[in-house]
Amino acid sequence: MTAPRWPHGARAACAFTFDLDAETLWLARGVTEAVTLSQGTFGVVEALPRILDLLRQAEIPASFFVPAWVAEHHPDAVKAIVAGGHEVGCHGDVHEKVSDLEPAQEEKILLRSLEVLTRQAGRRPVGYRAPAWQLSASTLTLLARHEFEYSSNMMDRLRPYLHPVTSDTGGRLVEIPVAWVLDDAPFFMFTGQRAMQPPGPVLQGWLTELDGITEVGGVTNFTFHPQIIGRPSRFACLRELVDHARRTPKLWLARLDAIAAHARQALA
Ligand SMILES: [Zn+2]
Repeated sequence: MTAPRWPHGARAACAFTFDLDAETLWLARGVTEAVTLSQGTFGVVEALPRILDLLRQAEIPASFFVPAWVAEHHPDAVKAIVAGGHEVGCHGDVHEKVSDLEPAQEEKILLRSLEVLTRQAGRRPVGYRAPAWQLSASTLTLLARHEFEYSSNMMDRLRPYLHPVTSDTGGRLVEIPVAWVLDDAPFFMFTGQRAMQPPGPVLQGWLTELDGITEVGGVTNFTFHPQIIGRPSRFACLRELVDHARRTPKLWLARLDAIAAHARQALA
């Protein structure tokens, strides 16, 4: 497979993406206890405004994946994301793992999240990221059936590609791959089980990933959670990453919907 040639003479792409799970990150684990849930609230009330500020100053358009439950409980957060020029994509209802669901239930949740996000964001979402990055046997078919443009879930490549599934109108679903190593949760999420990692070495790893993926002409698809990356010690890492990305020559900083549209054309 040849690498898509990137727009504006760029040699690679980079996306800053944020999963605004808020309280659903914990609700999906069966948690109802107030202190644990309040960590999710932190992501919306403290972290999100600072992240949006940073992106505005850096002039970086980003992609936010928002569970329907979060959009309904925090409508102003969705408004602020859209006002900042960012994309809103689907991410379940209450962050349920679709691999645990029957196809009919999964489709019902997908339709509900499309309906809620279209209403709140004023535009129909075109991207899907599965909660906890687990797909069912039906997920890709459902995405194609409901005319999604892209999935951002698989971990098999450094570059976008086309899934074999097609929509009723014949369009193929674009995959924009991700990786756990580009996600903040494996390093910093605290569930009482194991210690959190210090931010410095994690930042070093992310910088090296960005440089390495750029070198091979791929997409560095960072996946952050406002409640995790928004703590000041991690936010400093995010700021540094943003600065590094902006200083990297010929790197296209784009929303995933723009990357998907370009990849579809380049791979056709
Ligand atoms: Zn999530």
